[in-house]
Amino acid sequence: MELPSSDELARHLMALHEDSPAPTALFDQDDVLRYANPAFCQAFDTRPDGRTRWIDLMRANLAKGCGNVVSSNDQETWLAAAASRRGKQAFRSFEADLRDGRWIWMSETTHANGWMLCSACDITALKVDDRALRQERDKALRAAQSDPLTGISNRRHVMQQLEQQVAALNQSATSLALALLDLDHFKAINDSFGHDAGDAVIRDFSRLLQQSSRRGDGCGRIGGEEFMLVMGDVDEAQAHSILERLHASVSQSRPLADHPERGYTYSVGLALARPGESVAQLCKRADLALYEAKAEGRDRCCQSP
Ligand code: GH3
Ligand code: MG
Ligand code: MG
Repeated sequence: MELPSSDELARHLMALHEDSPAPTALFDQDDVLRYANPAFCQAFDTRPDGRTRWIDLMRANLAKGCGNVVSSNDQETWLAAAASRRGKQAFRSFEADLRDGRWIWMSETTHANGWMLCSACDITALKVDDRALRQERDKALRAAQSDPLTGISNRRHVMQQLEQQVAALNQSATSLALALLDLDHFKAINDSFGHDAGDAVIRDFSRLLQQSSRRGDGCGRIGGEEFMLVMGDVDEAQAHSILERLHASVSQSRPLADHPERGYTYSVGLALARPGESVAQLCKRADLALYEAKAEGRDRCCQSP
């Protein structure tokens, strides 16, 4: 018997997705929703319009009280934490609660070209007894990966991503850029406006850093007011354009409600990975570049030669 053509297979696949009660969706490399079957549209109250990104969909769901159950009082931190785990590896799966009372098992498959297939199956009928245990495990795993103040990756998680990217670089001819970012004269913000204001600035910077980066980039808080951005598969110009996007949004930002005139700045050390280079060598070069940016007057990016 002749094998069906790929067009024919695609037609069958689409027809089955359309009929299936299992929510299925396809996102492109910019995380824009490109396809969603009726079950997905219903669960997340959305439809593909060529514009809606995953983050817009999640925000709209939070506002409308549908989609995922959110286990945190601070929605932005919850969103940052969800984004910090999304699309960082080729495949992952996790359990989620929907506001309509269903429990789903969601899997995300990300192609090297950035397109992502999300498909869920309903596990409401699974044994309830095991569920609390599974949830505790997932909660512990999430806590081990994200920074509690900002929701973005913590030091351990972003370093893991850097190690994976360096290993991948040494196996294939891709590219990798590492940026270390440190807020300028941050102590003065704490001293003038108080520690809570300092925290608000750290949260603001984390949010803008994550928004400026791409879905697959590693984006973490590695110390008090120090951050790391791991950009896989970028050339020098792309790395600079991501950093320029960040600079444009930070320079507009005024995160202190009581001091609406007060902005803040940061310095960046950038290093493009060399084939065969270790994580420690790459970090050292980015760190030296950051030191140079500070020494040259701050509020700038220096690149390692
Ligand atoms: P530079 O431009 O050289 O980086 O100066 P700086 O003042 O930013 O750097 P310094 O390392 O001297 O001070 C960093 C300060 O960040 C000191 C510490 O009290 C503060 N800090 C560290 N973690 C936190 C935090 O979680 N919240 C707040 N509000 N402050 C923090
Ligand atoms: Mg510092
Ligand atoms: Mg600093």
